[in-house]
Amino acid sequence: MKTELTGMTAAELSAWAREQGLPAFRGKQIFQAIHRGEDFAEMSSLPAALREQLRESAVAQPVRIRAERVSRLDGTVKFLFSLEDGNCVEGVLMKYHYGYSLCISTQVGCRMGCRFCASTLEGCVRNLSAGEMLGEILAADRYLREKEPPEEGGDGQAPRVSHVVLMGSGEPLDNYDQVMKFLRLLREPDGLRISLRNVSLSTCGLVPEMYRLAEENLPVTLCVSLHAPNDEIRRRTMPIANRYTISEILEACRNYLRKTGRRVIFEYALSEGVNSREEDARELASRLRGLQCHVNLIPLNPVKERSLKGVTEKTVSRFLRVLEEEHISATRRREMGDDIEGACGQLRRAALSAEERAAGEDGAAG
Ligand code: SAH
Repeated sequence: MKTELTGMTAAELSAWAREQGLPAFRGKQIFQAIHRGEDFAEMSSLPAALREQLRESAVAQPVRIRAERVSRLDGTVKFLFSLEDGNCVEGVLMKYHYGYSLCISTQVGCRMGCRFCASTLEGCVRNLSAGEMLGEILAADRYLREKEPPEEGGDGQAPRVSHVVLMGSGEPLDNYDQVMKFLRLLREPDGLRISLRNVSLSTCGLVPEMYRLAEENLPVTLCVSLHAPNDEIRRRTMPIANRYTISEILEACRNYLRKTGRRVIFEYALSEGVNSREEDARELASRLRGLQCHVNLIPLNPVKERSLKGVTEKTVSRFLRVLEEEHISATRRREMGDDIEGACGQLRRAALSAEERAAGEDGAAG
């Protein structure tokens, strides 16, 4: 198997270079080239024979863009990334006034089983490595270099991803070690140098790992997919609610706030007949009172394999109004790329089933 170099720090790459009988400075050169998004063929600072040798034994860019869809509504780009072993995951690139934000996947599939989510329908295939998570950013940066000319009056540099959200497929805290490694790679001095203050990590609420994360001394924003005002409602859509109660989650959030000074964001997907009544909003407000936090409301995006429904705009506004009356900071999350199967796991499923159909038509279905 080829060695994946993307997940290594500059120091690890230098050590690896020495093991290969190369001078240590080659390790640093390769590290810098990888983080500029170069594949071995493009590493002009290396001798041609070395580039060829590396190509045979190692991987510099483990993630490729297999398909992309651009939203006509807001320019959001949904990527289907392919990995070296043929698996694929999704990413979403969004342009904000402050720069480009990329939503990345942390696992192929997911084993959390949330009933509204398309990513989890076939369980978790495998964890992504730190290098693959970094590779998603490198692939998006490459896309920006090719598609977006440098801004006029700017520094002549192509735009790059400046913000990262771990909100694609997978449960980041279920792939804890590789996610921590990835976060540390982001701030390597010769690497992408993305500030961890620009990184958000979303979890369905794995309480022990939330405590562990608070001890890492990494200033990432913690987002928690709450989706319910009480445990009874939460258990209807989220199996993880059988393991941890909302009280335990909120205690872990208070601890995170104490340790990092960063307010917690709660995700709340509204579904008709499940969690969208006025009394649900009041109960949610009473649970969150006194906690420095923000609530992101979003109408549930119905997934065709699931029976759960979304809600009308009127229901969103009513829910929001109650939270505001109760002095809970809340917004309706901007829904981006609504026309491009923006919800978790939907594009991957669409692509996989299209491929299955094509394979079937060829008579080559496995
Ligand atoms: N496992 C992590 C991160 C991935 S999901 C987590 O649970 O937070 C990213 C967000 O999208 C979560 O808040 C998830 O609950 C939400 N989500 C998944 N499917 C959705 C759907 N069909 N409609 C609205 N939100 C959805």
